[in-house]
Amino acid sequence: MEVWSLASGSSGNAFLISAGGVSVLLDAGFPARHMCSRIERAGHSPTEIGALFLTHEHSDHASGAGVTSRALKIPVVANEPTLEAARRYIGNARTAVLPTGETAEIGELEVTSFRTSHDAAEPVGYVFRHRNSKVCYVTDTGVLTPEITCHFLGAQLLILESNHDPRRLAMGPYPEILKRRIASRVGHLSNAAAATALAKHSEQCDPTVVWLAHLSEDNNTPSLAMECSKTALHRAGSRNVRLEVARRNVVSLRWESGENWWQGSLFG
Ligand SMILES: [Zn+2]
Ligand SMILES: [Zn+2]
Repeated sequence: MEVWSLASGSSGNAFLISAGGVSVLLDAGFPARHMCSRIERAGHSPTEIGALFLTHEHSDHASGAGVTSRALKIPVVANEPTLEAARRYIGNARTAVLPTGETAEIGELEVTSFRTSHDAAEPVGYVFRHRNSKVCYVTDTGVLTPEITCHFLGAQLLILESNHDPRRLAMGPYPEILKRRIASRVGHLSNAAAATALAKHSEQCDPTVVWLAHLSEDNNTPSLAMECSKTALHRAGSRNVRLEVARRNVVSLRWESGENWWQGSLFG
């Protein structure tokens, strides 16, 4: 199984997941003309993409959904409330309903959605499974409940929101109402909330690669997000998590199942 970050952040999100000869996209939150070139930059062909899964209808995840779907001749897959709410982006593109909590099979790749906590119609995160490999994706959630974090278990790659530094958010230029929304239970996950969850998770997980994702441009920096999680993991005495930060508007990270990076870190 192979995963690429094609873009991650409040100005646009897309990931590519590939396994067993099938590839799918997760979100399409930027102009569709960039999508094909980013898929190619990741070493894949747009013709091998089988479906586009949506987490929710916000423009940074769905604005390119309709054009991407028509250009690649693939269905947009999401739960019914999300498809309805994203109608203005999807237009007359082909759609398929995946009720929250259910699993879609595309070739050998299994895709299961689960509910997150965000101010959208019915926002979800996803678990991707192929044979013994598992990848979990969670961004755009104001809180991490046990119903969400239970999906982290067994994932070799966890893509987790680390959206903002609360002090930067509080002191920054955003209007009060927007600050309250971002910091709320249905907003976005702070660096500290992501770090705390990772430290807790690291006590019970096998070696895991974690991509910190969906960083705010105004209220965060890659080094702030990284330092916050690194410090929490260090305090927890964890050596089984490798942290990376997904960048905003470029193809930035690649992960492949079967990487045994921890051998070196444990015995080196
Ligand atoms: Zn978003
Ligand atoms: Zn959102």
